[in-house]
Amino acid sequence: MTPVFRFAPSPNGLLHLGHAFSAMLDHALARALGGRFLLRIEDIDVTRCRPEYEAAIGDDLDWLGLDRDGPLRRQSEHFGAYREALERLRAAGLVYPSFLGRGEIRLRVAAAEASGVPWPRDPDGAPHYPGGERQLAPAAAAERLAREPHPVWRLDTAKALSHVGRLTWLETGAGPAGEHGRIAADPSVWGDPVLARWEVPTSYHLSVVVDDAAQGVTHVVRGRDLFHATGLHRLLQALLGLPEPVYHHHRLITDATGRKLAKSAADTALAHLRAEGATPDDVRRIVDWPATERDLERLNRVLRRTV
Ligand code: GLU
Repeated sequence: MTPVFRFAPSPNGLLHLGHAFSAMLDHALARALGGRFLLRIEDIDVTRCRPEYEAAIGDDLDWLGLDRDGPLRRQSEHFGAYREALERLRAAGLVYPSFLGRGEIRLRVAAAEASGVPWPRDPDGAPHYPGGERQLAPAAAAERLAREPHPVWRLDTAKALSHVGRLTWLETGAGPAGEHGRIAADPSVWGDPVLARWEVPTSYHLSVVVDDAAQGVTHVVRGRDLFHATGLHRLLQALLGLPEPVYHHHRLITDATGRKLAKSAADTALAHLRAEGATPDDVRRIVDWPATERDLERLNRVLRRTV
């Protein structure tokens, strides 16, 4: 079976050195395994994503010499597929409508923490959802929905976990604490995550698993900041009957103060570096490209041992 890799940026800003490292590593691993390298444009947030940023992604990848295999997948063209996946989870009773706005969530969490007990937070630092709508009987939920037709749809994680067995994934890169090999998935750290909103009928987590399956992705290469999201992705894959890719999380490129690069940090944008006369070799040098060889070695070692 031909391995399939994908690079999946969001066109909500210019790609920076961190994206360059991710794309170069992804491409190198794909080609080293004789695999395909696909591009996916993650543009579900139609208010922040712009066609000129999508065009810039193509220019940057061309400049770096990273050739792609087709076809390109643009998430904004597949809302129907995400709605269908959400509908399946809803029909199985694993998704519920929630109605607390961001301000109300903050107030409830602050009130709960006033007693001195910290409220649980997800790996991104957001508080777990404090509302009790997961307990609403179907008739009560339907009645509430009729009055408030724009809910946020959340996964009932505890119920979902009771539908699946123990979940793991094969990590050929490394997590934040150096985790590699077979990793036990722990989706409960996300509380009841948002799967869809009325203004955007999907979420990053839902669309990423639907798309990886639709594109036949066998190897997911991405930054270590998404390591913990993988547990939730494995849960959604199990619930939706989707195949399990191999995951390779890589180190993050940081700025001089040790912080992860952000799209707003214009000085590390590839387009700006290029305009200032930098070459792809300069980019490789800045992101410590030889480290990639170690990634490749590790991927081969783990795959040999476990597949
Ligand atoms: N779109 C995500 C990002 O730009 C990457 C998602 C993924 O690789 O799973 O950070």
